[in-house]
Amino acid sequence: MSNENNTIHEFDFSLICEYFASIERQGPGSPHVTIKALEFIGNLTDESKIADIGCGTGGQTIVLAQNAPGSITCIDLFPDFIKKLTQNALDNNLQGRITGVVTSMENLPFQVEELDLIWSEGAIYNIGFERGLYEWRKFLKTGGYIAVTEATWFTEKRPAEIDKFWNDAYPEIDTVANKVALMQKAGYLPVATFMLPEDCWTEHFFKPQIAVQPAFLKKYEGNKAAEELVTYLKHEADLYAKYKEYYGYVFYIGKKLKAGND
Ligand code: SAH
Repeated sequence: MSNENNTIHEFDFSLICEYFASIERQGPGSPHVTIKALEFIGNLTDESKIADIGCGTGGQTIVLAQNAPGSITCIDLFPDFIKKLTQNALDNNLQGRITGVVTSMENLPFQVEELDLIWSEGAIYNIGFERGLYEWRKFLKTGGYIAVTEATWFTEKRPAEIDKFWNDAYPEIDTVANKVALMQKAGYLPVATFMLPEDCWTEHFFKPQIAVQPAFLKKYEGNKAAEELVTYLKHEADLYAKYKEYYGYVFYIGKKLKAGND
């Protein structure tokens, strides 16, 4: 099994969880960007119901709760991430407003038209951008918002190496224009899109990993799967440094229209 041919989906989940549970975020992002995205969302009150889907350990959840009113139900597939999120909420005295639920984004525990806002940073790719936009829409009130980040091509063409990497990892990666068109088709008014700045990858995603890699490798010395995981993640960081003009994450913010796809 050569590293070049792996995608992140092929690694042992318990190893991935342990590695990523030890850092603040499990995907690119930053407090600054979460706050910026929130500025486009106008309808929130103390009664608002927000879902944070694929919340991980809650890096963005705490920022959301500190900068928006309402209660936040956080969804993640992995119990260890929800455990950390719950502790994080407690540490920030936000336990009354943040609830963690271990379940899949394919099987959300919400009522039809219950939510004012659906948030999902670096996670909708797990269900697919298009499928997520369609399936989650029913849980939003008319006039409610969805705000997600998604891997996006910045150019129409790109070098073969990075094209192959992403098409293996996530073939739904596409340009901003195509993603916005999908959002419109799925029954949302595309309110805003903006590119996540580089520090969301370098400072907030790759740098914290560099800090934990030596201890992780020491603990799993001789474990091939652990070594290959770290090699893969280092490769991901190298590719970003090399090809960052060609791709990145983009925030897509949409408002549920009355006349939609249902
Ligand atoms: N929002 C966090 C985590 C992003 S990583 C951040 O930006 O830091 C993607 C997250 O999606 C992980 O926490 C992973 O456990 C979760 N995930 C993957 N598949 C999922 C599924 N089917 N349902 C719910 N969560 C899922």
